[in-house]
Amino acid sequence: MLEDDPIFNAGAGSVLNEKGEVEMDASIMDGRDMSAGAVAAVTNIKNPVSLARLVMEKSKHVLLLGTGAMEFAKKWNVEIADRSYFITDARQKQWEAARDADALSLDHSTSQPEKKINNKMGTVGAVALDSSGNLAAATSTGGLVNKSFGRVGDSPIVGSGVFADNDTCAVSCMGVGEHMIRTNVAKMVSDFMLMQNKDVAEASVAAIEYFSKRISGMGGFIAVGKDGKFACEFTTPQMIYGFTTTEHEPAVRFDTLTK
Ligand code: ASP
Repeated sequence: MLEDDPIFNAGAGSVLNEKGEVEMDASIMDGRDMSAGAVAAVTNIKNPVSLARLVMEKSKHVLLLGTGAMEFAKKWNVEIADRSYFITDARQKQWEAARDADALSLDHSTSQPEKKINNKMGTVGAVALDSSGNLAAATSTGGLVNKSFGRVGDSPIVGSGVFADNDTCAVSCMGVGEHMIRTNVAKMVSDFMLMQNKDVAEASVAAIEYFSKRISGMGGFIAVGKDGKFACEFTTPQMIYGFTTTEHEPAVRFDTLTK
């Protein structure tokens, strides 16, 4: 599971907030009935996306945050881990550098926040279409390096960091969450399909163009359409994504922005 791999900014290996602590956001959405579950600013939850799924399946709500989400997790015997499980040396050093520079950055940015990318990996997301035509999306993140205590990004916000509707597509976003929230970019991909009859690739290009031109947004997304075609668009210098189909072996791509 991607949250268990400390190389990614989700679960173990999450970035640290301004207090040097991990606060994670995660979401999941089922395109069949557009049910969704999300958690925000949770600590010590080994797999936040599993907790998001429990919110979707067992609660009457879509989004639980902070101590309320933690109490809900306890009720459902969700696996908890110590602080040391989440915090890696690399993340500690990254946070110390950001704190000393009073900088806020994407987890993979270096000295120029939101601009320079090295080969560290970030937020994790997944989109899927099954053989019955059902779409689903999920996103999990530690957020931005040195973010304010209590800051919530796009990842747990339906329509911004995650979206799935069997009539259109499933989308999962990464990047500067504030930019995603302001533009509702995940839902925008779906809306372009629904209202302008675009396919997922065309809708994704239209959404990223709006995101880029309108607010100079920094981020990207993966999307799969109801026809099984998929798309990946981004405004960050680079994006890593993988895909597999019944006809293709799993593949991973590391794309660089060329536009
Ligand atoms: N979108 C995430 C957030 O703003 C961060 C990321 O994708 O790296 O919380």
